[in-house]
Amino acid sequence: MNLVLMGLPGAGKGTQAEKIVEQYGIPHISTGDMFRAAMKEGTELGLKAKSFMDKGELVPDEVTIGIVRERLAKDDCQNGFLLDGFPRTVLQAEALEALLSELNKKIDFVINISVDKSILMERLTGRRICKECGATYHLVFNPPAKEGICDRCGGELYQRADDHAETVKNRLDVNIKQQEPLLTFYETKGYLRTINGQQDINKVFADIQDLLRGLA
Ligand code: AMP
Repeated sequence: MNLVLMGLPGAGKGTQAEKIVEQYGIPHISTGDMFRAAMKEGTELGLKAKSFMDKGELVPDEVTIGIVRERLAKDDCQNGFLLDGFPRTVLQAEALEALLSELNKKIDFVINISVDKSILMERLTGRRICKECGATYHLVFNPPAKEGICDRCGGELYQRADDHAETVKNRLDVNIKQQEPLLTFYETKGYLRTINGQQDINKVFADIQDLLRGLA
């Protein structure tokens, strides 16, 4: 079960990734998590990645492809893997094809969790956080009992700067532009499967399970 998971910020990719790895027992390979772990440990890789991540830029392809190459060669990937956050460029996608072919493997599906931009805007800009205890709420999906006040500690709720509409819109636009050529690449290869992410979390996962039924 060799899978790539794709989806824009707010589409529920993290939630579904957790469910997939738990259900099917395949490793979750997130390049973002790997870079963050390397930064925390202060390794050479972490130092290399830090300067790019701090600026919100992509880490160079050769570095990123290198860590994925090492990771996919590990024993726990024998029965499959879930790639998350990789590939992010067509060059990475081509490198992945070459790498998998060396290992006598191929991608089964690229799962794209699809949600309309207007709904993503609503999901991402509705988040509110407690100044005192850090509890998170959502104006529509998980509102506090009393507007602007934390249920847990009575603290004041605020909106993080990067959840403001203009910033969120920019982030989405950058991501949409980045993923477009990849979706085309995988569509052409015949790997792409689009899942409707505008449903209840469990229904989204049920659709993914339906898709994977033949592989398990
Ligand atoms: P993420 O947690 O997936 O949003 O990744 C956080 C950061 O890690 C990104 O903003 C990039 O700087 C870096 N990163 C993660 N995956 C990749 C990738 N496939 N190619 C290049 N940079 C990446």
